[in-house]
Amino acid sequence: MEQLIAYFEEIPSLHRSLILVGGLTLFWLLENQLPLKLTPYKKWKHAVPNLFFTLTTVIINFILAFLLIQTSDWVVTENFGVLQWLPELPLWLHVLLGLLLLDLVGAYFPHWTEHRIQPLWMIHLVHHSDHYVDTTTANRHHPLESVIRFIFTLFGVFVIGTGIGIVMLYQSLSLVATQFTHANISLPKKVDLWLSYVVVSPDMHKIHHHYKLPYTDTNYGNIFSIWDRLFGTFSRMDREKVVYGVDVFFDENANGKIDQLLKQPFQKYRKPTSIES
Ligand SMILES: [Zn+2]
Repeated sequence: MEQLIAYFEEIPSLHRSLILVGGLTLFWLLENQLPLKLTPYKKWKHAVPNLFFTLTTVIINFILAFLLIQTSDWVVTENFGVLQWLPELPLWLHVLLGLLLLDLVGAYFPHWTEHRIQPLWMIHLVHHSDHYVDTTTANRHHPLESVIRFIFTLFGVFVIGTGIGIVMLYQSLSLVATQFTHANISLPKKVDLWLSYVVVSPDMHKIHHHYKLPYTDTNYGNIFSIWDRLFGTFSRMDREKVVYGVDVFFDENANGKIDQLLKQPFQKYRKPTSIES
């Protein structure tokens, strides 16, 4: 465990890029073998805007990374934050707690907030307006959303008091976990169910991408499923019934164009019309 954390403390940018590209490639290939939705779509054309937004997310995180490093150095040297205030724990428990809390403060909480505050929802909409969710959807985030998520992560590192090794480990796990949960793959239903007791499973996250409320406002989890279960936002739905997109922004053509997506947050807000119960 010590070696693992030491590695992530110094993880080279090249290795992080390899994780990103390696994950995308692996799940892309699996999608061809075990597809969930059989609806034919032009995979490469669909990937263009998503890969563009993946690139902007990477650039923004790269530019701002120094803030993350400085904050986490500061909390460790000053013994600030929840993890620092706890009595000495075995390393594995310290790391696990760090990952769980980062998942709550840096991922679940901002995601939940984005679904509640109108201007933030309009920014997050870019992620939801994908009509064919697959592994490339994982990082389809408007640049403004990348900044918002970064701020929450920074806040998380500050209050939780996480060292940079745990932060980098979390970010790498999060990258692969979201590529996995968005991937257009069908695991055996039982395997998916068992997985969902611990981590967010592909079927669990797909429900969050259903085009109608109340499903869009459930299953906010990023890596661990405990937060949805604990805060009552967990939902189930037959995976065959899931329809991707957002009911009031259903222009498939516009939702596939980079320029339209960049402008999407500044469109007029439209209240969801159809509520399913
Ligand atoms: Zn969402």
